[in-house]
Amino acid sequence: MVRDNVQKIIGELPQGVELVAVIKGRSTEDILSVIDAGIKTLGVNYVKDVKNLFSLLDRRVNWHYIGIVSLEKHDLLRRKYLEIFDMIETIDSVELAKELDNKCANIGKIMPILIEVNIAKEPQKSGVIPEELEGIVREISSLKYVKVTGLMTMGPLVDDPEKLRPYFREMKRLFDYINILRLPNIEMRYLSMGMSNSYKVAIEEGANIIRIGTKLFEE
Ligand SMILES: *Cc1c(COP(=O)(O)O)cnc(C)c1O
Repeated sequence: MVRDNVQKIIGELPQGVELVAVIKGRSTEDILSVIDAGIKTLGVNYVKDVKNLFSLLDRRVNWHYIGIVSLEKHDLLRRKYLEIFDMIETIDSVELAKELDNKCANIGKIMPILIEVNIAKEPQKSGVIPEELEGIVREISSLKYVKVTGLMTMGPLVDDPEKLRPYFREMKRLFDYINILRLPNIEMRYLSMGMSNSYKVAIEEGANIIRIGTKLFEE
């Protein structure tokens, strides 16, 4: 049952690791169950998924956007959604950050963001490649209405989570590296990596946000 899944995973988490329940494709009933069982943050891939849920839950949970963001008339950039989301985990360009900064300036909100890194440099994946990370973070640091609070990665799709360990380790190295630069307006607090099949390895390598769907809702 959903409730047992949540409690089992929460019970195993080291202190300071936040579990984000990824809600794509899940029923409202199941989403309410995971919240009753102790989930404090929902991960949202599609803005349309928050429409009814937000009126139901409001600030009972934190709302993280974890889907693709694009510059073309993306609903996420509308006032209503910017007001809902507490964090956008998937920013991967200066252009996007600037547009978000503009939109957030209009509503007087400082939006916490994570920079998504394409850690394995997969051609089809979103995210900045490691070599470009520092430059992009430096540019974004001058924006007033977005605040970089860490890094996020998806990692390659593999059957054995051990194969992800070197990538997670490299993410932590980048995270620490950006952190010691002590850039203005940059606060490296969150490292979001690890999903249903890989969260244990991710935590061992330094993740403090894990994003889980399948293992909460299905098993
Ligand atoms: C779907 C999704 C997850 C969760 O994946 P599971 O394997 O179902 O745990 C995590 N992060 C992102 C960005 C996702 O789209």
